Amino acid sequence: MSLYPESVLVGPLDELVVGSGIHAAIYVSNRDRPPAVVERNSRVGGAFAEADKPVFYLNSRNRPFTENGITGPGTEGPLNYIPGGILQPSDVNCMEYQTQSVLAAVVRDNLVAKAVVFIDSPLEAVFEEGNNLKVVIASKEYSVQRVLLATGLGNPLIPFRLGPTSARVWSFPEFVRIVGSVNNSFSPQDFGRVAVIGSGDGGKVVMEHLMGQGPSDPGVFLDKVDWYGQDARNCEEFTKRERSRYAGLGRNFPNGDRSFRIRPINARVLSVESAGGRALVRCLLAGEPTPGIYDTVIYCCGFGPPDIPLPPYEERLVREKGEPIATKLVGCEVYKMGPCAGLSVDYREKRNNPLLDKVPQNTAAIFRYAGKTAALARRLPSGAVGNVSDEGGPM
Ligand SMILES: Cc1cc2nc3c(=O)[nH]c(=O)nc-3n(C[C@H](O)[C@H](O)[C@H](O)COP(=O)(O)OP(=O)(O)OC[C@H]3O[C@@H](n4cnc5c(N)ncnc54)[C@H](O)[C@@H]3O)c2cc1C
Repeated sequence: MSLYPESVLVGPLDELVVGSGIHAAIYVSNRDRPPAVVERNSRVGGAFAEADKPVFYLNSRNRPFTENGITGPGTEGPLNYIPGGILQPSDVNCMEYQTQSVLAAVVRDNLVAKAVVFIDSPLEAVFEEGNNLKVVIASKEYSVQRVLLATGLGNPLIPFRLGPTSARVWSFPEFVRIVGSVNNSFSPQDFGRVAVIGSGDGGKVVMEHLMGQGPSDPGVFLDKVDWYGQDARNCEEFTKRERSRYAGLGRNFPNGDRSFRIRPINARVLSVESAGGRALVRCLLAGEPTPGIYDTVIYCCGFGPPDIPLPPYEERLVREKGEPIATKLVGCEVYKMGPCAGLSVDYREKRNNPLLDKVPQNTAAIFRYAGKTAALARRLPSGAVGNVSDEGGPM
């Protein structure tokens, strides 16, 4: 698959978008002048572009695009969409839950239609020199007028002590990259004894893959997987608390006398370390330190922001008709948009969409931020960046 690399990034830059995920695609789709986009990975498409092929199903339903712009759970509008985009996920197929590869391809097509994208180009720092804003990208310095960070959920978190081990210990993105590689020679049975740590969306889609319920079902699956941090004890408890999208996983849980394939372990992992060629997972189970030995450990413990040094200003909300749409560093033209802005759900959003409050994963959902990112892109003037107020637009 083409990754659309561009040749050489040259400065000075007018606008720079950092990250090549859906929020970069939304931003560039709503600008008159195409910004430069830099992506640290060698693939364009953001979080869903890690793999060569489908590895997991998305958790937002696919719905046709409506021009009235009203979206979100409980409406007729689409959940995964690119306002102003030339191609929408629902143009590609009618699957109720599309695969991550479909969304990655749509993001990629929208981005390269409207912007110049540079791969293998990590943003390493943003700083000021006199009155000039500067960035360091892959060890080179450039002058830039405005920086828009669209770095998504950030880097995988490791909330336990990870010692040296030669066993397979993968983060969620590593798992997706490896099993989704065209060169992948693993079938789930080659993973041996497996522990999955974390019960959020990442943990659930990894479990679906291991249970043979993912989109590229290899026809074989694992007999038993230990799922750390999963507090549902049986099928009934799991299906009651999870969204219907994940109901199918429930049948692998303990259910009376029936044999089961998922062993939920409601415990906090303390450390993962070497035990010969295998990995020793220590956890606290009912207050007692408890060890388990595994061939493969996959941790899906959420994400923390990427470590990019920024100028030392405080952040302020950028608002559109009173609604927060992004954040901005007060003293310079640096914005954060999409989930990397980390906007908290305010009373207005709670009132309009109670599901935002009830399902924590929805706070980062595309349907929540898509309109905000598009509004930011439409609001910021091009060119005369110096005339922009701290709130992000000409006031
Ligand atoms: C398993 C799972 C399933 C999900 N399913 C859904 C779903 O169905 N619907 C939904 O709405 N949301 C879903 N989400 C949430 C969704 O992934 C995010 O909301 C979305 O990807 C955010 O888009 P983004 O463009 O902001 O960032 P991303 O798609 O994360 O893209 C950010 C990009 O920035 C790049 N980057 C980071 N740092 C730098 C740097 N320093 N320099 C250059 N580039 C950098 C990264 O490499 C990445 O490519 C899911 C999340 C997970 C984990």
